[in-house]
Amino acid sequence: MPDPVFQRIALIGAGLIGASIARAAAETGAAEVIALYDASADVRARADALGLGSVAPTLEAAVSGADCVILCVPVGAIGAVAAGAVPHMKDGAILTDVGSVKAEAARALAAAAEPRLHVIPGHPIAGTEQSGPEAGFATLFRGAWHILTPLPGGGEGYDAAVDALSAFWQRLGARVETMDAARHDRVLAITSHLPHLIAFNIVSTAFDMETVEQGEVVKYSAGGFRDFTRIAASDPVMWRDVFLNNKEAVLECLGRFSEDLAALQRAIRWGDGDMLIKEFTRARSIRKAIIDAGQDCSAVNFGRNAPDTEDQA
Ligand code: NAP
Repeated sequence: MPDPVFQRIALIGAGLIGASIARAAAETGAAEVIALYDASADVRARADALGLGSVAPTLEAAVSGADCVILCVPVGAIGAVAAGAVPHMKDGAILTDVGSVKAEAARALAAAAEPRLHVIPGHPIAGTEQSGPEAGFATLFRGAWHILTPLPGGGEGYDAAVDALSAFWQRLGARVETMDAARHDRVLAITSHLPHLIAFNIVSTAFDMETVEQGEVVKYSAGGFRDFTRIAASDPVMWRDVFLNNKEAVLECLGRFSEDLAALQRAIRWGDGDMLIKEFTRARSIRKAIIDAGQDCSAVNFGRNAPDTEDQA
């Protein structure tokens, strides 16, 4: 096995993403020592039982001596966790995160950090609707994008730190891209955040209709609705924090979406079949482009049985 990228990493938050990093880092030898900490004693005990790494009793114990600290907590918790971790981190260490919103995460990390550390916000475009340490698996990041949003004016040694963090994620199997945080948030608003909002909403509407239709909604759920329920099963805390922290970009997308939906509504009302064919044909070509880009496979059932092609958040 090649040399580890980092001697010691600390993963704060041992849920789906933290546990997946722990498993992938162990499997690929990306880190010699993997320390974990979670605010929940129950999660810490479960992470320990799963053998995810060296589970620390406190945040301080986890981050002390770590070359790279990765915050794997909901976006709304990043600032407080960073503030607790920073005083105990060693000089020159990397402080990064995996939050699904980058401008706000970057602001929170930078506010807590000290100049002796390298703050490099990040986001793996890989995930599932599952939560908790049991949900983690080593291949989650394989072939997926990992977006880094380095801060401007990072100081001495910053570029080398970005290179080291990129090498770490590449070792886990990810393809690394750097991007401006605001651009990340605009792109993810349409590719991930809005689709989740629509899924939460359609499931909630169907839930209300379920009482009226007396069980028929669940019974015939395979007709498209089932895929929405899978996305809508995602963690409520994580998604609350995504929407509250990427408000502007999500509201902008939602405005455009509502206008387009109104146009479809009008076409149905006035029997404008040509317009429906035109829009549906265009949508179909985007699906083909996603498959051609290797972001999903064309297997029946959207290839959902293969862990490598699970939903990406
Ligand atoms: P998760 O499975 O719910 O795990 C998060 C863990 O963090 C939970 O064990 C939680 O404990 C713990 N935690 C919460 N506050 C904490 C604190 N102050 N200190 C220490 N631990 C704390 O969530 P996840 O899916 O791994 O998501 C983690 C991060 O990854 C989020 O920022 C999310 O936006 C990002 N992300 C998620 C996905 C995805 O598909 N799920 C994909 C890419 C990025 P409790 O449960 O006890 O609160």
